Amino acid sequence: MEFHLVTLFPELFESPFSESILKRAQEKKLIQIRVHNLREYTEDRHRVTDDYPFGGGTGMVMKPEPFVSAIRGLKDQFGSAHTVLMSPQGTRLDQKKVWELSTRERLIILCGRYEGVDERVREGWVDEEISIGDFVTSGGELPAMLVVEAVARLVPGVVSGETATTDESFENNLLEYPLYTRPRVFEDRGVPEVLLNGNHEDIRRWRKEMSFRRTLERRPDLLRQTELEEDDLRLLEKVRRDIGGCDSLPDRKNI
Ligand code: SAH
Repeated sequence: MEFHLVTLFPELFESPFSESILKRAQEKKLIQIRVHNLREYTEDRHRVTDDYPFGGGTGMVMKPEPFVSAIRGLKDQFGSAHTVLMSPQGTRLDQKKVWELSTRERLIILCGRYEGVDERVREGWVDEEISIGDFVTSGGELPAMLVVEAVARLVPGVVSGETATTDESFENNLLEYPLYTRPRVFEDRGVPEVLLNGNHEDIRRWRKEMSFRRTLERRPDLLRQTELEEDDLRLLEKVRRDIGGCDSLPDRKNI
């Protein structure tokens, strides 16, 4: 899978993509990450990428021509691509969206700066706008890095171990169970007995129960989107009773 990032600040991307999983994934040619300097797609002598907003107001707006010329140039050079604009006004990124993006062969990700990007880029050349949450960052670079990091790890072979990505929080709309490693006792705190007795069926059941419990306590909204089998529904009902009297729990009918 290919990621093409379009930015005014290419150097920002250097270290996050040159360590650990993303580094190995590139070495193994499972993914390719290319960072393109927006300024190279300007045609004027001063390589201007921003201008004053029509209608007045503070700050600068990113001009449409360099972005559109970058999108066209990259598609000519590399082939068709799904084009994403990082924007606080976009669809909020979640694991479902991350899976969807991971099925694309080639993504072009546009990073805004200043007050944002001229609206006509979105209208004519962008397939979707993606937000990383209901807050504003100063530029699209860090948001774009999050997209690359989350999507790349779903590309087959990037994360080793089959369960690493299937057992995790937000898969099946559940939060993951609590994790423990050595030492067995840390500052008077032990590890749940069930994890030490080697009974895999007990462990599997405990983990599922903990996963339900966490999700009910912290993110009951996720459970409304979950489809559960009969056995799991019974387990969830038991966990609900164990926790007891919590107003924020979703209505049984909605699960
Ligand atoms: N004036 C804009 C915000 C501009 S912030 C508004 O009010 O909607 C500058 C750039 O940072 C944006 O163009 C976008 O690329 C990026 N950005 C800021 N917050 C973001 C978020 N939550 N998700 C994704 N990108 C974001």
